[in-house]
Amino acid sequence: MILQMENRYKRTPGSVRLLAVSKKKPADEIAATACECQHDFGESYLQEALEKITRLEGRNLCWHFIGPIQKNKTRQIAANFSWVHSIERLVVAERLNAQRPAHLPPIQACIQVNIDRESSKSGVQTDQVQNLATAIQTLPKLKLRGLMAIPRPSNDTIQQRLRFAQLRKLLEQLNQSGFRLDTLSMGMSGDLEAAIAEGATIVRVGTAIFGKRTPG
Ligand SMILES: *Cc1c(COP(=O)(O)O)cnc(C)c1O
Repeated sequence: MILQMENRYKRTPGSVRLLAVSKKKPADEIAATACECQHDFGESYLQEALEKITRLEGRNLCWHFIGPIQKNKTRQIAANFSWVHSIERLVVAERLNAQRPAHLPPIQACIQVNIDRESSKSGVQTDQVQNLATAIQTLPKLKLRGLMAIPRPSNDTIQQRLRFAQLRKLLEQLNQSGFRLDTLSMGMSGDLEAAIAEGATIVRVGTAIFGKRTPG
């Protein structure tokens, strides 16, 4: 599925990484998907994620935290995840940096951007991204990789692509000012094709892999 989309939009084959979003899905389903050569899994809720990470220890999976981060959750996130996509406050980045266990490599980090400029939405405002990126780059146990966004859902492909293009341009601007960022974490089940068309390097896909989640 990803490979076809890479071809359609003239993306290098293999340049889009599939993150299987397994929140609300049991460890058994993750194990079955892992057997199909899927290595990266995304979780939004710390407590249920920790149970699954413990159960699946030894399978050598790569865990990504993609949900909102309260300050009191940073220690467990720093100890258990390879990637964190949802950094939107410096204090959270500083805590992750301080709490990352010494024997683990740096956390691969993305800044979550509020690309719709809605006050109700998570993410940093676009004009604040550069400041936060500059501060994060001084933290040795965080490796800043790029940007993440969750645009307002839309069925209109043109609207979807506009938002993703904005995130791509923001990344390009950062790189022009001296950063070396290589990651655009964008696209979910409903808009993944538009995201790949606009340069996503990680798509975060839940429903299209695991089926609908039961609410609550
Ligand atoms: C749940 C979630 C996804 C996956 O959404 P689907 O529509 O099920 O593909 C992707 N990213 C984040 C941040 C999520 O919370």
